[in-house]
Amino acid sequence: MRDQEWLNAALTALDLVYFDGALSEDDVKVKWWPFKVSRGIVIYGDYCQKQIRINRVLADPTVPTFVTIGTLFHETLHHVIGLEHDLTFSFAEAQYVHCTRAALWEREHFNRIVYMHQQGKK
Ligand SMILES: [Zn+2]
Repeated sequence: MRDQEWLNAALTALDLVYFDGALSEDDVKVKWWPFKVSRGIVIYGDYCQKQIRINRVLADPTVPTFVTIGTLFHETLHHVIGLEHDLTFSFAEAQYVHCTRAALWEREHFNRIVYMHQQGKK
């Protein structure tokens, strides 16, 4: 089950593999958040002042783990690199081992993700 504990463990794993423990040193936190779809825009997650929020529809077991963790990775990069989605950010994001696969899944399942919001699924 993708609860808070799972999310913390995912952050710790990313921290070890990609950031050499810098995230825990900086006390970066993560939590699920009930983002709403607005005007057809899905917010997968966001980052502000050491706090990452991940859309709770990504806790659903039908969403592949590599998609949920890919979103988490994206948000950790905002802590490490900054808020701009510039070229540096793109190169860094490509370091995630399932980067392409996750982007493809998100594109292919966009309608279902929107539907899951409407159903109020967690
Ligand atoms: Zn971003």
